Amino acid sequence: MSISTFKKGVHPPYNKQLSQSKQIATIDQPEEITIPLQQHIGAPLKPVVEKGEEVKRGQLLADTDSFVAAPVHASLAGKVTAIEKVPSPQGGRVLAIKIDPAEEQKNDFFAASEKEPEDIAPDKIRQAVRKAGIVGMGGAMFPTHVKLSVPEDKEIDTLIINGAECEPYLTIDHRLMLEKSEKIVTGLRFLMRATGAERGIIGIEDNKPDAIKALKSATANFTDITVEITETKYPQGGEKMLIKALLDREVPVGGLPLDVGIVVNNVATAIAVAAAVNEGKPLIDRGLTITGEGINNPGNYQVPIGTPVAKIIEAAGGFTGEPGKVILGGPMMGQAQASIDVPVIKGTSGVLVLPKDKLESYSPAPCINCARCVDICPMSLVPTRLEKMAQKENLDLLEEFQVMNCIECGSCSYICPAQRPLVHYIRIGKAAVTARNKSEQGG
Ligand code: SF4
Ligand code: SF4
Repeated sequence: MSISTFKKGVHPPYNKQLSQSKQIATIDQPEEITIPLQQHIGAPLKPVVEKGEEVKRGQLLADTDSFVAAPVHASLAGKVTAIEKVPSPQGGRVLAIKIDPAEEQKNDFFAASEKEPEDIAPDKIRQAVRKAGIVGMGGAMFPTHVKLSVPEDKEIDTLIINGAECEPYLTIDHRLMLEKSEKIVTGLRFLMRATGAERGIIGIEDNKPDAIKALKSATANFTDITVEITETKYPQGGEKMLIKALLDREVPVGGLPLDVGIVVNNVATAIAVAAAVNEGKPLIDRGLTITGEGINNPGNYQVPIGTPVAKIIEAAGGFTGEPGKVILGGPMMGQAQASIDVPVIKGTSGVLVLPKDKLESYSPAPCINCARCVDICPMSLVPTRLEKMAQKENLDLLEEFQVMNCIECGSCSYICPAQRPLVHYIRIGKAAVTARNKSEQGG
């Protein structure tokens, strides 16, 4: 049994034992749901419903004519009580539609097809994915139909399903692979059909042997799909790392996986694609992990999009004591929240609660030039120099040192003995370079 990986990376404590054996459960219906209109990378949406309107579960709430965007839908039937700006889990305030859920839940899904993937036109699959508002559910929230629209001058030979789940603490993808393995395979077959990929690979880290077994069994009848095992190492689930590990191909600087003939999708995204095509179901709920030493009953839950994070914390038995940090996502790439009243969005893979008494406060010390950050950077960058360039706002040098190739994995900050917030400054540097280039192009 061969185990593949990429060069460099780190081994943080994984802490997955808190929730990995907990079956995916549901929660009681929330008293209110809040659907932000910006749950994707791309153009803003416009509401197509009004305050006071009764909506069904799955009904379209907001859309746009722009190609790079993903519409949002009502995750529960009920009455629209407000269309207003709310705090976003991604920071800042965004326009959102609030719904008071009804007792009786009626669905409004679109036309479905029970056909086998080879009997459906690729364009029909892409249309269903667009209509369902599916985005990358691993956290990136890039519209999936855009990923599946392969330019004429490119050819996709392989569709990869990312089952690495390399972020510490998170276990929802692991549970989905165990509990919904057939749906993942169905979704993968639709994705292969939509892109023309002749081969499908499901990549899973070797710390999930039961998931590997379940997917091997679910793919046994498909000669064009294999399950490949990767080393448990962070950030193995980064698209570029997974492609390197599984196929030994390198995505060019500033390029995309499709430049090397590959499209990568997360396991939850594959399930959403299967539900869109087979059931006409929009992306209105998602699985997530709630975990950390600061929560009483860590576990995995399937919740409607728009559920307040506070409601999930309550379902998981509440805080063990005074919470120090509530992070949406994992500890490496997740975002700390100022409030637990923010809603779950399409990219929310987890809620991590760290208790106050376990948090260490620290202040960064000067760099000791140990080069550890350089030794582990999976993109072979020089984080210590990028940090200094970002602080000095030297945008030309930042570009020359390929700051845009940073995947913001946080490995450099994690390994730094001087506890320097390297990724924080690198992010600022990337944003400054992007803004400058956009203004130079007149955008
Ligand atoms: S520089 Fe970027 S890619 Fe490299 S370790 Fe730091 S965050 Fe990760
Ligand atoms: S790991 Fe920290 S201390 Fe070492 S070179 Fe990088 S920034 Fe400096």
